[in-house]
Amino acid sequence: LRLSASTLANSSTCSDHPEDRDRIINLDHGDPKMYEKFWRKMGDKSTITIPGWQSISYFSDITNICWFLEPELAKEVVRLHNVVGNAVTKGRYIVVGTGSSQLILAAFYALSPPDAPEPISVLSASPYYSSYPSMTDFQKSGLYKWGGDAKSFDKDGPYIELVTSPNNPDGHTRQPVVNRSDGILIHDLAYYWPHYTPISSPSDHDITLFTVSKSTGHAGMRIGWALVKDQEVAKRMTKFIELNTIGVSKDSQLRAAKVLKLVSDSTEQENTQELSFFNYSYEIMEQRWKQLRASAEANGLFTLPNFPTEFCTFFNKETENLPAFAWMKCEKDIEDCQSFLGEHKIMSRGGKHFGVSQRYVRVSMLDTDENFNLFIDRLSAMQI
Ligand code: PMP
Repeated sequence: LRLSASTLANSSTCSDHPEDRDRIINLDHGDPKMYEKFWRKMGDKSTITIPGWQSISYFSDITNICWFLEPELAKEVVRLHNVVGNAVTKGRYIVVGTGSSQLILAAFYALSPPDAPEPISVLSASPYYSSYPSMTDFQKSGLYKWGGDAKSFDKDGPYIELVTSPNNPDGHTRQPVVNRSDGILIHDLAYYWPHYTPISSPSDHDITLFTVSKSTGHAGMRIGWALVKDQEVAKRMTKFIELNTIGVSKDSQLRAAKVLKLVSDSTEQENTQELSFFNYSYEIMEQRWKQLRASAEANGLFTLPNFPTEFCTFFNKETENLPAFAWMKCEKDIEDCQSFLGEHKIMSRGGKHFGVSQRYVRVSMLDTDENFNLFIDRLSAMQI
């Protein structure tokens, strides 16, 4: 039985439940609940059992720089990147983190000059991922501090630039913008997967971050990984995690290894009985973006970013950019897009959180079918 995404996804719109009319839809967070349906279909194939005696030690592999990295997870990370073709893994150290969030902080710690007279500036081009400024500054570190929009950075000296590609919130492919020799780059590639963006070539940077939260949809597992070129940087990142949480849950790592394995298996067995994870997810995202664009066009209240189709080496054809977030700009005289959507009981995140105007708003595209369809219904019915 070969199931297609469209038969699995409930694509019907126009809810006929009267209680839905007043329900608040929370599309503020990028909570990837959309993927639950796929994983339910996988049933026991994605189940692991961990007996009480297993994973008791703090240590996973003391011969590895990242001594708390489960070898099984390392193996499946390398395999998946090879299957997808989105990252070079050869000659890289893998550092596992409690989500890529922990790895961002580990990278700041590892990359900051330890004895500098003042904290190094951390930058990202606006609109940037809204958590970067607060993650950088919440502990008032003496090592690093938020330096704002990379596009207007004009201070001399070293800096750390976060390059998010495709970008959260707007979905565009990005390159570094400051481009000075004393810059240190962290590539946050949480969304560099074929269901969100065409894979153009394997990423090949000094530090690259990935996460299961957006790739397989397992945000609750809290697993991310960094591919690191430099051994000393990998050691320092590992040290940070040692001091912070003495490693990363082995239970989660084993579960992550299992779901990554299933994603790779489902891709390699695509021509057999298996439902391919990336085919499934791409189809849903494609359909959602079609619905969103149609309703935005119909009411004329919002504009959305446009993207060229590009050749995807994974799907071996031209594919679309189908971002995990809709970055909507309000037109007409709607000055505050977040409040406007709020009046329609849609929670979203306004432009100011991303360093731009409130005319912009970010809306998650990864919620359940029910919530997404309700969102589209409300959008289609909006008028001013
Ligand atoms: N980087 C980006 C660009 C993200 O969008 C997110 C999640 N919203 C993260 C990092 C953090 O992800 P994790 O769940 O792996 O901590």
